[in-house]
Amino acid sequence: MSNFDLTIHESDHKKPKPQTDQIAFGRTFTDHMFMMDYDTGKGWHDPRIVPYEPVTLDPASMIFHYGQTVFEGLKAYRTADDRILLFRPEKNLQRLNQSSDRLSIPPIDEEEVMGYLKELVKLEREWVPETDGTSLYIRPFIIATEPSLAVAPSKTYIFMIILSPVGSYFPGGIHPVQINVEDQFTRAVKGGTGMAKTAGNYSSGYQAQAKASETGNADVLWLDGIEKRYIEEVGSMNIFFKIDGEVVTPALNGSILKGITRTSILEVLNDWGVPVVERKIAIDELYEAYQAGKVEEAFGTGTAAVISPVGELNWQGKQMVINNREIGPLSQELYDTITGIQRGNREDAYGWTIEL
Ligand code: PMP
Repeated sequence: MSNFDLTIHESDHKKPKPQTDQIAFGRTFTDHMFMMDYDTGKGWHDPRIVPYEPVTLDPASMIFHYGQTVFEGLKAYRTADDRILLFRPEKNLQRLNQSSDRLSIPPIDEEEVMGYLKELVKLEREWVPETDGTSLYIRPFIIATEPSLAVAPSKTYIFMIILSPVGSYFPGGIHPVQINVEDQFTRAVKGGTGMAKTAGNYSSGYQAQAKASETGNADVLWLDGIEKRYIEEVGSMNIFFKIDGEVVTPALNGSILKGITRTSILEVLNDWGVPVVERKIAIDELYEAYQAGKVEEAFGTGTAAVISPVGELNWQGKQMVINNREIGPLSQELYDTITGIQRGNREDAYGWTIEL
C-alpha cells in the first residue's frame, strides 16, 4: 500500500465555518474525514478521504462491548503568513502504535498514515482558524469492528481521522487553575493501560472530575493507584513543579502517558540549562517543600492548553497556594516558546514543525 492508493471523494455540501470565538471544543467537524479498514487477510487497506458522515456499525461490534480502541490528539496551526504547520506529528503516530500494541490492535504504517493525514489537512486547510490561540484539532482513532461478543482481539478494525476547529483554551491568555488532589479514585496503575491513549482511561476519570468541580476545583491531580502517594498527572496533562530552583516531573513509570508537550519541555529546559529531573515525587514531599516556601511554580502540559499553570492544590483539607495564584516566569516563557514555534512566530530551532 502507498499514498498512491489513497482515493478522495470530495463533498458537494460544504458546511459554513464557525466564528472562531464561538466554538466549543470538539463539537464542530470539517467537511471530510479519512478512513481505512483492516482485516486479517488484507491488513490495512482502502485508504480514503470521504465526506464527513455517520458510520454504520453492527451492534455486536467489539468496540461497543470491550472498549478495544485507541486515539490521538494533535493540532494544525495557521501562521501569520498563512502557512499551515503541524507540531511533531510523527510522535503522535508513534504513540498511536504504542497504544495499539497495549490494546492488541494491529499497527499502522506511520509514514503512510502521515501522508494521508497531511492530504486530509491540506484538503481542509480553509478550516484551520487564524486567530491567535486557535487551531484545527486532529483526532486519529481506531475502533474494533468485528461483530462478536467473544472476549478476544477483533479481527477487523476501522482507522479514522476527523478534524475539528478549536478556539483558544484560555481566551485572553493562560491563567492559573485550582486543582483537587484525588485520593480515592485511581486513573491508572503500573501494568494497566495508563501509558496508552485508550477510551477507558478517560471515562473512568469522570467521577473524580465531578467531585473536583463540586468543590470548586477545575481538575484532578492523580496519585499512584497503590500507595496514593506519588504524583502522576493532572487531568489529561502531565505535571511539572519548580521546587527550589529545580524543575521536577514524575518519571514515566508505566501508568503515566508520555506527553509530546512533556517531551518537548524537557528538551527546551535542557537546552536552556535549567536544572530538570524526572523522578518519583510524593505528595507529602511536595507539601513539605511548600511549607518550607520552596514550591515556586506548578503547571500541567498537553496539546490542548500547552501550559496550564496550577494556582492552588487542595489535598486532604490542606491548601497549597502556588506563586500567589499568578503565572510564574518559567511557565510563561515555556508557553511563549512552544506556542511561538507552533504558530511560526519563533524560530523552530529544534525542527519540530512540519509545513503542509
Ligand atoms: N496525559 C494524558 C492522560 C493525556 O490524555 C494527554 C493528552 N494527550 C497528556 C497527558 C498530554 O499529552 P500531549 O502533550 O501529547 O498532548
